[in-house]
Amino acid sequence: MALHRRLPVPVAAALLALAVVLVAACRLGAPAQAAAAVLPGVLAVAVAVLRLPGRPAGRRTAWRLHAAGLGLVTAGYALFHAGLSRGDAPGYPLPADVLFVPGSLLVTAALLLLGRGSRDLAASVDAAIAVTGAAVAVAAVLVRPVLAELSDPLLVGLTALYPALDLLGLGLVLRLWLTGCTPSRPALLLAAASTCLLVGDAAFGALAAVLPVDLTPWLGVPFSCALLLQALALDAPGSDEVGAGPPRARTWSRAHWSMVGASSCVPPLVLLGQGLRGGPVDWAVIGTGALLLSTLSVTRVHHAVVRVQEQAEQLERLARTDALTGLPNRRSWDAELGRELERGQPLAVALLDLDHFKRLNDSQGHPAGDRVLREVAAAWRAVLPPGTSLARYGGEEFALLLPGEAAAAAPGLAERLRAACPAPQTVSVGLAHRRPGEGAGELLARADAQLYRAKAAGRDRVCEG
Ligand code: GH3
Ligand code: MG
Ligand code: MG
Repeated sequence: MALHRRLPVPVAAALLALAVVLVAACRLGAPAQAAAAVLPGVLAVAVAVLRLPGRPAGRRTAWRLHAAGLGLVTAGYALFHAGLSRGDAPGYPLPADVLFVPGSLLVTAALLLLGRGSRDLAASVDAAIAVTGAAVAVAAVLVRPVLAELSDPLLVGLTALYPALDLLGLGLVLRLWLTGCTPSRPALLLAAASTCLLVGDAAFGALAAVLPVDLTPWLGVPFSCALLLQALALDAPGSDEVGAGPPRARTWSRAHWSMVGASSCVPPLVLLGQGLRGGPVDWAVIGTGALLLSTLSVTRVHHAVVRVQEQAEQLERLARTDALTGLPNRRSWDAELGRELERGQPLAVALLDLDHFKRLNDSQGHPAGDRVLREVAAAWRAVLPPGTSLARYGGEEFALLLPGEAAAAAPGLAERLRAACPAPQTVSVGLAHRRPGEGAGELLARADAQLYRAKAAGRDRVCEG
């Protein structure tokens, strides 16, 4: 059972406590700041471990990795704050990096594992579009200006690594959400957690390099929020279904379009901003991002257009086909009759009505009637020559179009169909040849009159006129 249902009060109390600690952290100095950083992590790890036994068996490894990753990151915060209280410099490389790096990698690996098995190209491309936009903003505005000041490869690596892992994590979470296999609540909480981490890591990298002495206490806030959001995501209803739920039908919501549209606007906006400020313009990041976004957008549109075309063809097929027998339906047959009438070549139509079908339904039931309809359609399809067109005209009535040479052979063909009707079912057939200048209405009315004649004469026969 979800922890939030069993322990709503403790979770609410934890939230309240965190808010108090966060506010206090900005005023009370190192111990309160350490508590503000570590407590949300402890909460997230506790929820992760408590929920572990209820996770689906096939996903438990991923959730274990996730819990272990959160544990390492939380231990990293404890180590980081212990160092701060000893007076260590807060810039990279930190002793806590030996915990942060493997912790972040484990969380990323867990997200990868949770999303495995899904082959949803559209979701992958949409997630990539969102992440590319965020990456351009973070790289051009926060990370690259800092990297330009650094020469030590270790510092450069760490400054770039954390935001890169956060972006990857954000992309993986968005993909999990967009495939429709992850319920919205945990997906959005996880995405918000990744965004907080990204903001924290990018700002931390930037400010740690530019202001190596004093990191303001507020810099810990995004990390605390990220871990708190992780705790809420892990306990949210539907969190067991992360990446494993039944796929939802994808809808093109306004939020979806806004995300894709906003991401596409990032490179030009960054270019405008940097240009207007008169400072250096990061053409490499902006250009690469714009190129990537164009490629991804075209891929996405191509994929969507192909899907729409496939669906349109499928719909058209469905609209032309009778679901029970698989034969063309009346609409399709009427359209074909219209085309044949325009061509002006010899033409005959036959209306075939099963005899006493109501009796069959009444005595053996509707499913038995359906079975006979399918058997009759299959038997007739097997004996019809190419060029003729048989349709289910409605109920237990069929229509046959005999154009060109088939019109001359129509009486024999109608007899063959009557004989092919699976016994004991019989059929009556009304046949009419088109007269010069005759339209569909008159031709069908004459075929119908012949069918009526066949019924009146005792059924199980072909009448022609
Ligand atoms: P007749 O020889 O004069 O044509 O008699 P009939 O009983 O075949 O004709 P009637 O028009 O009285 O009844 C047709 C029956 O066909 C009634 C209806 O329930 C049945 N029917 C129509 N469509 C379907 C269907 O899709 N499935 C089944 N099982 N029965 C159907
Ligand atoms: Mg009938
Ligand atoms: Mg009928």
